[in-house]
Amino acid sequence: MRKLMGLVVFFIIAGTIIMPALIIAGLRLLEAPVETQTGERLVRVYLHRTGVSRTFPLEEYLVGVVAGEMPANFEVEALKAQAIAARTYTLKKIEQAKDLPGSRHENADICTDATHCQAWLDEASLRQQWGLVNYWRYHKRIKDAVNATRGLVLTYQGKLIEPVYHSNGGGRTESAAAVWGGDIPYLQSVASPWDRESPHYRDSLSFSLQELENKLGVNLSAVPAAALAAPSGSAMKVIEQTPTGRVKTIVIGDKTFAATELRQLLGLPSTDFSWEVAGEQIIFTTIGYGHAVGMSQYGANGMAAEGKKFNEILSHYYQGVKIERVY
Ligand SMILES: [Zn+2]
Repeated sequence: MRKLMGLVVFFIIAGTIIMPALIIAGLRLLEAPVETQTGERLVRVYLHRTGVSRTFPLEEYLVGVVAGEMPANFEVEALKAQAIAARTYTLKKIEQAKDLPGSRHENADICTDATHCQAWLDEASLRQQWGLVNYWRYHKRIKDAVNATRGLVLTYQGKLIEPVYHSNGGGRTESAAAVWGGDIPYLQSVASPWDRESPHYRDSLSFSLQELENKLGVNLSAVPAAALAAPSGSAMKVIEQTPTGRVKTIVIGDKTFAATELRQLLGLPSTDFSWEVAGEQIIFTTIGYGHAVGMSQYGANGMAAEGKKFNEILSHYYQGVKIERVY
């Protein structure tokens, strides 16, 4: 009887403690690993064109990101700066995905849609984009830039930064506070004179009055041309500028627009614009390309061409940050 009791106790313990422990240990083995044996992070990427998710070692994934986000013929130090910005952004996304599982991309940390997360191009797309001869040259160039900065990220007060960047700052970048509201200490306005010598420094876009009415939902047909004259005709006038002279708020017809909203509605390259009326057309002239916050990519290329290193480029555009190694 005592033996039987002993056996019963043994099975109860086995059933309630040992078995669940074994099952949980087994499940842990089935869970996806988060890093490689060398400590490099793994990143789960949602490929938005095919709707499939794939896991990559971070450094391998970054080659496709830098190739998608910056021209491959840019100076090597600019490509390195871009690689560090992209690595920082990706690790930040991995952190966020851990905090908010499944809320942004199903079972992935980041996606390949440049308008949502950051661009990424696979080898087939790159072969097509660059052609066979340039593929080997450019792929190696970008891979070398990523390898040279392996494990390096940007931090501010010990935390990963928001490493935002844009194509061309138009000669001076803009602070995060002026564009989005809310001061971010490392995203201040800095000089970016290298932008002036590069493509997309100045662009112009022309719209008929009818097109403007359709795109903006305003009524301009009864308005005399003089009332549309820049910068302060009664029907089209800038009512607020940012500290660097970009448009912040503008009235068109009977509506008021944030310049960022107008930029989106009309597809303007930047919010640093002026306009002129020519008959039935309004011609916008823009300076710079992108939101102008953080690193200017053409500025980074210009600095690199002058012999500046990636750390000098990054600490110019992201004021007060540190470059740290995470693996
Ligand atoms: Zn995304």
